[in-house]
Amino acid sequence: MKKFAALLITITAMLSFTTQQKTTKPKLVVLIAIDGLRGDLLNKYRPAFTGGFKRLFDEGYQFTNAWVDHAVTVSHAGHETLATGNYPKDHGIVDAAFYEQSGDSLRFTDAFADSDYTLTGYPDIKSISCKKVLTPGLAEWIKQKDASAKVLCVGTGNISSALYCSHPNENVFWYSDDKGKYVSSTYFVKEYPAWVTKFNDEVLPQYFAKYQRWDNVIPPGFLHLANEDSAAFESYGEHHTFPYVASERVKKNNLMRQWIRNTPYCDDATLSFAKQGIASLAMGQTGTTDYLSIVLSQVDNTAHGFGPSSLEVFNTLFEMDRSLGDFFSYLDEKVGKGNYVVALSADHGFPEIPEQTAAKGGGGKRLGEDQIENILNTITAIEKDYARESRDVIADKIKTKLKTYDFIADVYTPAQLNDTKASGDPYLELTKKSYRKDRVPRLPFFSLKSFESPIGKAGVMVRLKQNTMIDLDAVIHGSPYDYDRFVPLFFLGGGVAKGSSGAAIKTVDVAPTLAKLAEVKIINKVDGKGVVLKGTDAYLPNLSNSKKLTVINMISIIQSSRLFLLISSLVIMPITTVMHKSGMPATTPNMLQPPCAESLTRPSISITATIKQGENM
Ligand SMILES: [Zn+2]
Repeated sequence: MKKFAALLITITAMLSFTTQQKTTKPKLVVLIAIDGLRGDLLNKYRPAFTGGFKRLFDEGYQFTNAWVDHAVTVSHAGHETLATGNYPKDHGIVDAAFYEQSGDSLRFTDAFADSDYTLTGYPDIKSISCKKVLTPGLAEWIKQKDASAKVLCVGTGNISSALYCSHPNENVFWYSDDKGKYVSSTYFVKEYPAWVTKFNDEVLPQYFAKYQRWDNVIPPGFLHLANEDSAAFESYGEHHTFPYVASERVKKNNLMRQWIRNTPYCDDATLSFAKQGIASLAMGQTGTTDYLSIVLSQVDNTAHGFGPSSLEVFNTLFEMDRSLGDFFSYLDEKVGKGNYVVALSADHGFPEIPEQTAAKGGGGKRLGEDQIENILNTITAIEKDYARESRDVIADKIKTKLKTYDFIADVYTPAQLNDTKASGDPYLELTKKSYRKDRVPRLPFFSLKSFESPIGKAGVMVRLKQNTMIDLDAVIHGSPYDYDRFVPLFFLGGGVAKGSSGAAIKTVDVAPTLAKLAEVKIINKVDGKGVVLKGTDAYLPNLSNSKKLTVINMISIIQSSRLFLLISSLVIMPITTVMHKSGMPATTPNMLQPPCAESLTRPSISITATIKQGENM
């Protein structure tokens, strides 16, 4: 009977979806990813918004219970999942850099670096390709439907836009703080279109001239929503209060191109660049269904330095609200209201700074360079001692050793990870989605000197305890915990009625849902499902893992009053909303990871090497 009822609901939902679609096929599909935006933050700051975010709340369809459904919550994996509707195990980008099968062993490799290609316009600078991406995604489905459809992928973070289009010869551009320009790889474009050159030469210099300071602009009545400006351990205690002013050194040495990457204005530039692209390529205006992806990276960049609840991240979102408001108005004018559809989500969430969590009794822990090095040396020694044994034996020895450390929650061997039978352990199941036999992530525990890990090299994966992280930045993401997996998800525009749902949805469902809305056929097997956006009970096809985790989370909440306090302090949504229909709790925070865009090097390091976060001097 239950099955029949479910079938009936499914059929009804499909019928209503079909009816809905007949009149509203969008001419432009827009996928916006806000890098590192945890799922509670927009709700928390909602009262302060007057622009694009307000419009998403007022006119869009909101999922209040959206999750990244894999364990290694790094940017590359999360973006590729949004773009393809597949888990990392299937799209192949399990980490920004990973251990890849090569002959009998696993060899460390970058997910995108490819010496066959150079930075377009810079023949001496090696660049990237998407050859390691194993499945097509929304961009490819749209091109498959109509080869004349236009694709434009833009992003603030290094190579971020390349995660949204894996086939060559398309308009894929990202901001390079090294060059102070929007650039590409010769994998995508051999030379820059005139509109790109014009934007780089004429518009970006205006940004560098105009935005030489970053002030707190939050109205006094909303300041209490974020941490105090001088919260503990932000930016390791250096340069961590407003205003941030470009120093004479920065200006004199022509370093504004890097300095601006520490402010919200770089994302505003990316949205302006997108507008220029829409106009130049006549996107959504020529009868094809076109595709635009946008990655806004400043929330991630700022959260790594100051924590997700900082006044700096609040300011970043406040500025983004204005920029997105302008951007949506531009779409109304250029493409026409109802002729475009937007999805907005994130590649992962964020933990709080561990010292701040610890101060609240949440058990935050930072693992230092020497401590990590000592442990990794021990692991290397085990590998040497048992070199004649099988890989499984070595993995077991490594597991036994690692489990003696009190900050490690669990260790997974290749035998466990390759077992296709459901284990009953939700963390192991999440971890399997971030693992392939031939590609093993480096995260979450690797050397801060070499950026490698003998653990990953042995095919073994580790789960650190909640709120525990290696000292790569003031705070890092990358864990399977709620705070890193809880993300926002909105749909807005043609064919989408205002509404909201608390049903659990996963980021693998985003691309298939956009494909449905645009009547684009999915040409390959995908892990996600298209969702019907209707009423308060959006039709959700499968909820397997999120549901299991829910139960565990709820039990642990009841068992741990400390965790409960932490959740209450970090999740802003009223507890009634938090429990919602599906029983999914909102989230806590905690976390790990590095390279959001760069891969083999520290993410913000390339910036902080020349410019301290918020350099004031
Ligand atoms: Zn990210």
